[in-house]
Amino acid sequence: MSPRLKNGEPVKPSFHPQLVNDPFGDPALYVEFLFQKRAILFDLGDISALSPRKLLRLSHVFVSHAHMDHFYGFDYLLRVALGRARTIHLYGPEGFIDRVEHRLGGYTWNLVENYTEELVFVVHEWHGGEQMVQARFRCARQFAREPLPPVPVREGVLLQEPGIQVKAAVLDHKIPCLAFALEETAHVNVWKNRLDALGLPTGPWLQELKQAILRGEEDDFPIVVRWRDQAGENLRHFRLGDIKQQIVRIVPGLKIGYVVDARYCEENLYRLQKLLCGVDWLYIEAGFLQEAAEDAALKYHLTAWQAGDIARRVGAMKVVPFHFSARYQHQPQRLLKEVEESFGKSLTPKEAVFG
Ligand SMILES: [Zn+2]
Repeated sequence: MSPRLKNGEPVKPSFHPQLVNDPFGDPALYVEFLFQKRAILFDLGDISALSPRKLLRLSHVFVSHAHMDHFYGFDYLLRVALGRARTIHLYGPEGFIDRVEHRLGGYTWNLVENYTEELVFVVHEWHGGEQMVQARFRCARQFAREPLPPVPVREGVLLQEPGIQVKAAVLDHKIPCLAFALEETAHVNVWKNRLDALGLPTGPWLQELKQAILRGEEDDFPIVVRWRDQAGENLRHFRLGDIKQQIVRIVPGLKIGYVVDARYCEENLYRLQKLLCGVDWLYIEAGFLQEAAEDAALKYHLTAWQAGDIARRVGAMKVVPFHFSARYQHQPQRLLKEVEESFGKSLTPKEAVFG
């Protein structure tokens, strides 16, 4: 079945998210962009199942926090990317640049200066405020830390590109832990039959039209269509508001959420509701049964019931629970059932296991 948005509309997202491991594996969510040889990753847990080809597509990696089960995959990524001309952007919470520096400092780098292909890590650290601290680690400099000027952050948006954005929130896991939302900008679809009916050609002007709509231009913004055919040169002028109404349909983009390792408390719930408003698919840790809620709280983790409850509160269309505690290795169904109970909807077997 093709994915659908909350309003039931089928969607052709520009990216495809997939958990790297089964729900007991150490967390990593690989998001591949269609029609681009490019991917992003949430968390660097066990990434050994990702082929070097897939790892070398990574441009941005978002790490929730540096507990070992979310970060030890960094070494594998480093091994695969070493000697390649790649710049990989890493994002993490307070203290993250130090963590990366220490990992890189664990190896001897006396022979890498003259590699012709240079691997570079640009590491961004966000504390929840209006700027991100940055540092760079270059192979040519034996991965010594080079401070970069801080960059401004508006409303938790860590990455903004044409077509997508990644937003974060700081959660309480006894240490700061980042939750993330990856969101597409709206799709502007053109009705080809209506275009034909108006006698208008396809061409670069449609791209300009789409961009004007996404920029939020006023209705009287001028749209000029120029083309040449057998009859010669053609020129038509439109008001954006008119042409938009006649040939365009706007479909909201897909939004996915990634939440791991957080305490179930008012402050975290408030921050998650703000971050995940309008989320379509939610990947969320569901490590413990509710009967072990006290234990989960002591470890600053969510139970399965709490995960489903968060998914319901934020109005997620689909929930993919993962990061299960090994103690339930032989009874994952009990965790899934609790998520379903509080979420109020059944999970399909595929969603429940691999997303
Ligand atoms: Zn943790």
